[in-house]
Amino acid sequence: MVVVMSPDASDTQIDAVVQRVRATGGEAFVSRGVRRTIIGLVGDIDEFRALNLRSMPGVADIIHVSTPYKLVSVDHQPARSTVLVGTDTGAQPVTIGPDSFTLIAGPCTVDSVDSTLEAAEMAKAAGAAMLRGGAFRPRTSPQACQGLGKNGLRILAEARDVTGLPVVTEVIDAADVPLVSEYADMLQIGAGNMQNYPLLQAVGEATKPILLKRGVHATIEEWLLAAEYVAQRGNLDIVLCERGIRTFETSTTTTLDISAVPVVQRLSHLPVVVDPTHAAGRRELVLPLSRSAIAAGADGILVDVHPDPDSAASDDPHALAGADVRELASALRRMVPVVGRRLNRREPVA
Ligand code: PEP
Ligand code: MN
Repeated sequence: MVVVMSPDASDTQIDAVVQRVRATGGEAFVSRGVRRTIIGLVGDIDEFRALNLRSMPGVADIIHVSTPYKLVSVDHQPARSTVLVGTDTGAQPVTIGPDSFTLIAGPCTVDSVDSTLEAAEMAKAAGAAMLRGGAFRPRTSPQACQGLGKNGLRILAEARDVTGLPVVTEVIDAADVPLVSEYADMLQIGAGNMQNYPLLQAVGEATKPILLKRGVHATIEEWLLAAEYVAQRGNLDIVLCERGIRTFETSTTTTLDISAVPVVQRLSHLPVVVDPTHAAGRRELVLPLSRSAIAAGADGILVDVHPDPDSAASDDPHALAGADVRELASALRRMVPVVGRRLNRREPVA
C-alpha cells in the first residue's frame, strides 16, 4: 500500500501517518520528493485499511495496488498519461501521449555547433517536435568519445533557441542532475543506467520530465519498477522508451521488443516511445522499425539523424541522413493519421 501526501503536507502530518502505521507493527518508508512525499507501507494490509489513513490531514491518496510497481500502474491510474515537455526554457512545448505521435530526432553525440544546428534543422524539417543529442555519453569503450559535457549542453540549448525544439539529453551521474536540468527540457536515463537506483532517485527529484530507456537485460516488470523509483520521489512525468533487448540474434545490436509497446500499455499509464536506431544499430532498419512502432501503438519514436554520419564524433553507422530522413518524414505523414493520431510537429513536413 502507498500513501500519497498532498504537496503542502507538513512534517507533522507526515510523521502522524508514520506513527499510526508503526503502531500496528507495520513499517512506513518515507520518500520525500520535490513535488510530493510518498509513504510506502509494509505490513498487514487489513490492519492498514482499518486505520482510515485517507481521513488524516495532509493525505491526498491511498493506493491499494497488488502489482509491485504502484504509482505507474494502470490499476492506480487507468487513464493514459500525457507528459508535457518544454514549458520553462522558451521552447515550443510538446505533449507526449495517446492522442499524438512524437518524433524526437537529433545527433547521437553533440560534436560541434554547426553539425548540431544542421541536425536540428534536419530533424525539424522531418517533422520532429523534439531534439535529442548526447552531451554526457556513457560509452562501452573508455577510449571512445565521452561527449562534450557542459559545452554539449550549451550547444543543445543554442539549437533549441534557433529551432524552438525542446531538448532531451542523457544524464549519467546523479551529481549532474541539477546541471543537465538547467539546460535540458527532458532528462534521459540510458539503457545502461536503467537500474542505477541512486540516479533514478535523483531524477525523481528533478523538475524536468524523464525519458526512461529499457535496459537491454531488463524485463518489462524491472523496467516499470525502475519507473516506480522515479515516481516514488515525486516525479510522475515519465516517458518509457523501448530500445531493444539482448537476445541470441546477432544481425542487429539488440532485438527490438515491439510487443513491449502493447504489453506496457496494459500494465502502465505512462507513455511509451520506441528507439529503432539503438535497437537495430543499422541505418537501413530504422525506417521499417519506425513503421512497426507506429503500427504497434507507440506514442513516438527516437531517431538519430546527422548531416554527415560518417564524420560524426561517435561514428554512427546507425544515424539517418539526407534522403533517409525525408523517407521517414513521408512515412510518418502517411501512417500516423491511419492509426488515429496526429503528428506533433513544429513545421509542415517536407
Ligand atoms: C542514446 O540514446 O544515445 C543511447 C546511447 O541509447 P541507449 O542508452 O538506449 O543505448
Ligand atoms: Mn546513437
